[in-house]
Amino acid sequence: MENNIFLAIFEKLFEAYGPQHWWPAGSDFETVVGAILTQSVSWSNVEKAIKNLKREDLLSPRALSEIDDEKLHGLIRSTRFYKQKGERLKNFCRYLLKNYDGSLYRLFDKDVYELREELLGLKGLGEETVDSIILYAAKKPIFVVDAYTKRIFCRLGIITEDIDYKSLQKLFMSNLPLDTSLFNEYHALIVKLGKEVCRTKPGCGFCPLSDLCKEVKK
Ligand code: SF4
Repeated sequence: MENNIFLAIFEKLFEAYGPQHWWPAGSDFETVVGAILTQSVSWSNVEKAIKNLKREDLLSPRALSEIDDEKLHGLIRSTRFYKQKGERLKNFCRYLLKNYDGSLYRLFDKDVYELREELLGLKGLGEETVDSIILYAAKKPIFVVDAYTKRIFCRLGIITEDIDYKSLQKLFMSNLPLDTSLFNEYHALIVKLGKEVCRTKPGCGFCPLSDLCKEVKK
């Protein structure tokens, strides 16, 4: 893998920022809940919702599947689109209870792509959410891509704007070793760079990738 630009970028990011310790959750179930709640909202708002669920002792498939909708909406209101997200949470929990006796361990005990197809079949779970669940809760090797990944790798000149989720994911997975901890850290580092440096208005002067970047603003 000599001269592999994907590994070179990872190494630069890791050297600059170190380990990101993702996913910040106390259990695999909490990771799943966080992955469902985090779409289109900042992590701090998800944390508030998870804290509320914990305080009410609701962070279990059984408790979440049975909770009254209004109460659930109140507890996860900080995550925007809370009605949709509440429904997705409940659907997931009911599915888990019905098919796996509520056991994530049993759900996750299958091949990555079989698991991916199954989760994508659940109402409201998109590719990024499903891949986050597989990588960070099931701890299986799948690369998660998101809007930060697309923006950064476009600016670096490696991809074009019109690339779709699947093709972007494939690009990473065919250029990196199939390694869960590498994929875990790499996605977390991309999110850090996208949030803090390669923002809408990029802070290229502070970017560890500036010597590799086609769009660097001097
Ligand atoms: S050098 Fe600038 S445009 Fe390029 S990745 Fe870094 S912050 Fe983004």
